[in-house]
Amino acid sequence: MKPVIALVGRPNVGKSTLFNRLTRSRDALVADLPGLTRDRHYGEGRIGERPFLVIDTGGFEPVAKDGIMHEMAKQTKQAVAEADLVIFIVDGRQGLTPHDKTITDFLRKSGRSVMLVVNKSEGMKYTSVTADFYELGLGDPYVISAAHGDGVTDLVEESLDLAFAQRPPEVEEPTSNERSIKIAIVGRPNVGKSTLVNTLLGEERVIAFDMPGTTRDSIEIDFERNGTQYTLIDTAGIRRRGKVFEAIEKFSVVKTLQSISEANVVLLLLDAQQDISEQDAHIAGFILESGRALVVGVNKWDGLTSDRRDEIKIDLDRKLSFLSFAKFHHISALKSTGIGPLMKSIDSAYAAAMTNLTTPKLTRALLEAVEHQQPRRKGSIRPKLRYAHQGGMNPPIVVIHGNSLEAIDANYKRYLEKYFRETFSLIGTPLRIEFKSGK
Ligand code: GDP
Ligand code: GDP
Repeated sequence: MKPVIALVGRPNVGKSTLFNRLTRSRDALVADLPGLTRDRHYGEGRIGERPFLVIDTGGFEPVAKDGIMHEMAKQTKQAVAEADLVIFIVDGRQGLTPHDKTITDFLRKSGRSVMLVVNKSEGMKYTSVTADFYELGLGDPYVISAAHGDGVTDLVEESLDLAFAQRPPEVEEPTSNERSIKIAIVGRPNVGKSTLVNTLLGEERVIAFDMPGTTRDSIEIDFERNGTQYTLIDTAGIRRRGKVFEAIEKFSVVKTLQSISEANVVLLLLDAQQDISEQDAHIAGFILESGRALVVGVNKWDGLTSDRRDEIKIDLDRKLSFLSFAKFHHISALKSTGIGPLMKSIDSAYAAAMTNLTTPKLTRALLEAVEHQQPRRKGSIRPKLRYAHQGGMNPPIVVIHGNSLEAIDANYKRYLEKYFRETFSLIGTPLRIEFKSGK
């Protein structure tokens, strides 16, 4: 599992600047999707070979009693409790504030490892920018400039070393079947995740649960259906009691993020008896950002009036239009309806994510697309698209080569994406388009 780093600090110290810097590589995927309103709070980053998850906890008011600040504080507390490491950011230009002390007290009580980081320190001397902050008793501060990038890589390297040192020694994970499709079932509480797990496993031949030697309370379950092997990844808050699974923990953002990042295909469950909530949209946003293949199960479809069915369809179109690359299935985990087609879509989403496209095939599709519709001129410049090759899988990345490609607008990029998606039947996986200009 990837280590989780939480960014904590009062408003305006530079948390989101640091967050953006750490997760920059992911932006390309989501930059120009219409309909996706999200606050960027969760992301994946990578330094060298080491991937990690980052949470930006937003502005932190540990003492707020109610209202939105209280709600945020609650979420911050949960994120801190579940993180491997906390990066506590203070503002080197402003110096120490009483609020920083309150946060320090809270962090001390949490028992987490904390790295104290003084931001906005570009052009300043270490001793003068840090002097104030020794009073917090958190040791030697790191100094960085999130805006300029100074010190950021070193900070992350060190924090990852520390995060790994916190972990129990890695028990040799039994290599679960390499060819099995790893599925993470995610969704907010009560959408029917545990019911679905029970239905799936009740119908199918379970190969192993609770494999001995796996870390602590993680559960990975292998099962087989119609000759295909699947592994259900440890799903947030679901635990086994005897032979059945039930939701016993409260919803955990961190667990959800981790299981998404370990999966090949994410199965997002929604509750058709309720409107799509902000929490649903947040989880959906993170799935999108992770680049994982996705299938959506609209659960509890049993016993809905036709009016309600129409309502929820409109609600889905309105709030989750940015997931249009995925298949939506109306299912009932309880009555076990719609499960067959759902699993078929999981198979095809997996296949799409793993597609291997040759350069000649991609180039042919590219030239066809251009013939159907030319990119617009920008001033006197007309971009020239020459050829395409595949730059990665899961999600597939199509790299397009040519000249003056920076003049291509978001609309045309979406057009190309759609063209490739249709030509190669890439349903259920995000698809990334990148441009490489010769000159
Ligand atoms: P957050 O509220 O903690 O997420 O803070 P933001 O990331 O939104 O940053 C608040 C302000 O500080 C913005 O105007 C940033 O441009 C600025 N800022 C962030 N990092 C730096 C830095 O390293 N140096 C300077 N001078 N300004 C910074
Ligand atoms: P979880 O918190 O996501 O694991 O949700 P549960 O599986 O515990 O389900 C929450 C509640 O929804 C339980 O009372 C289930 O019986 C009910 N439920 C789950 N799936 C369905 C379904 O397909 N139809 C109906 N009507 N109820 C369901």
